[in-house]
Amino acid sequence: MALPRPLARRLRSARTWIALGVLAPVGMLVVSGLMLLDLRQDDWDKAEQTSKNLLQVIERDIARNVEIIDLSLQAVVENLRTPGLDAVRPEMRQLVLFDRAGTARDVGVTLVLDEHGEIAADSGALPARKGNYADREYFRVHRERADLGLYVGRPLVSRLTGERMLPFSRRIDKPDGSFGGVALGTLKLVYFSRLFDQLGLGRDGAINLYLRDGTRIMRHPYEEADIGVNIAGAPTFRRFVGARSGTFVGTSVRDGVERHYAFTQVGDLPLVLNVALSTADIEAGWRAKAFVIGMVVLLLCGLTVFLSLLYGRDLRRRSALQAELARLSRTDALTGLANRRQFEEEFERARKGAGRTARPLSLLIVDADHFKRCNDRYGHAVGDEVLKGLARCLRASVRRPDDLVARIGGEEFAVLLPETDEDGATRVAQAIHRAVAKLAVPASGLGVGAVTVSVGLAVDAAGELGDLYRRADAALYEAKASGRNRTQCASAPANRTRRRRAAA
Ligand code: GH3
Ligand code: MG
Ligand code: MG
Repeated sequence: MALPRPLARRLRSARTWIALGVLAPVGMLVVSGLMLLDLRQDDWDKAEQTSKNLLQVIERDIARNVEIIDLSLQAVVENLRTPGLDAVRPEMRQLVLFDRAGTARDVGVTLVLDEHGEIAADSGALPARKGNYADREYFRVHRERADLGLYVGRPLVSRLTGERMLPFSRRIDKPDGSFGGVALGTLKLVYFSRLFDQLGLGRDGAINLYLRDGTRIMRHPYEEADIGVNIAGAPTFRRFVGARSGTFVGTSVRDGVERHYAFTQVGDLPLVLNVALSTADIEAGWRAKAFVIGMVVLLLCGLTVFLSLLYGRDLRRRSALQAELARLSRTDALTGLANRRQFEEEFERARKGAGRTARPLSLLIVDADHFKRCNDRYGHAVGDEVLKGLARCLRASVRRPDDLVARIGGEEFAVLLPETDEDGATRVAQAIHRAVAKLAVPASGLGVGAVTVSVGLAVDAAGELGDLYRRADAALYEAKASGRNRTQCASAPANRTRRRRAAA
């Protein structure tokens, strides 16, 4: 299928190719940039979804375990009110007070402490082990306040087993409402570390569980020193307690790593849980992909620019070459004058111009006299020199930019003079005779005056177009016939012959 002509012309232009070579890579860069941003967003969305899912699973597990402990504590508090409990055998009392919750993995012993902090009942031993807990924070808190419900204390080390625990407690009231002691349940911290360790979170990922007061209960990856640290003042923590749940990107006060945090309160408990993925981990896959894609795109862009520039340069060279060829095809190689083809084109144009403007157009046909003889005597090379010399003489004899000097045959030249009447043309012819009279090729012994020309002159006044060339040629023939070295004018009706001797 042929292309429309304006499009085909554009495609041949070096500028078009250079513009395409620049615009196409810019387009490629924009598109791949948008694509990469989109891929990055995908990774972030995936990370956020993963964090939220993990958060939900962990939160549910913790909430369920705490609920089991709390139900046991509530049962203890309630069962203590069973009438006649003090009268039954210790084994029976044990069965009434403690269900099987305390035997669950990672759930520590349940203790009943009396109002002095002494162990009054112990789910883990019969008779109860000895110990006083009056100094524990949860004990003091319950003694002072009756309305706390379930109290979650700070992590501590069990005095009975030496393990790290999180204490959960409820106040026991005496029948008169005064402080009667504390029911204490515990969850081993190992439970949290085991729960968190199951989850893969990347190199710099972390899971944290805090009390609402900022105390860290557990962190994954586990480090002893992290437990019990209070970060209440950290900007990240302020955001954790600012809403029930949410997500944000922040920098950790602990290690300065930037992370994406998904956080939530655990059930209705004063616990804050977060899953934190490092932004570097989230983007690691994307960065590797972006690097490869970026490199390939840059390479392709570079290649496109390079090839377009190359092609553009080639096109430019080719059009310069074409212009040069076109110029050469209209130029005579020996003299550098316009050749016959150019003369014919210009002659046609000048004739049309003269027809339009009704201005006179003059034509001189200049022929070297006895040139054959000159060739024979001095040789062809000297003849060539003479032709070049004649070309110089002719060129020097015209003044206007529109005047055209052409070599139209072996030793035959034409001088086209637009907007020039007979007088003007005659003056040019005289100038030609004068210049030729001075022409010589001294190295070959061809002296001044040895070369002469005959000129046929015709003027096309008043729009008589058509046979200007024929008339000039006929005038030249007449000039030759009447002795050479003269100008014959064809324009006069009477064909008056004016002898024009060369000035020299
Ligand atoms: P006339 O005065 O009647 O014009 O005689 P002439 O000898 O000039 O005319 P003729 O047409 O018989 O001969 C023209 C000669 O011009 C013939 C040829 O050898 C010579 N000639 C044509 N072209 C060239 C050229 O390019 N170089 C040289 N050196 N001679 C050329
Ligand atoms: Mg001749
Ligand atoms: Mg001739």
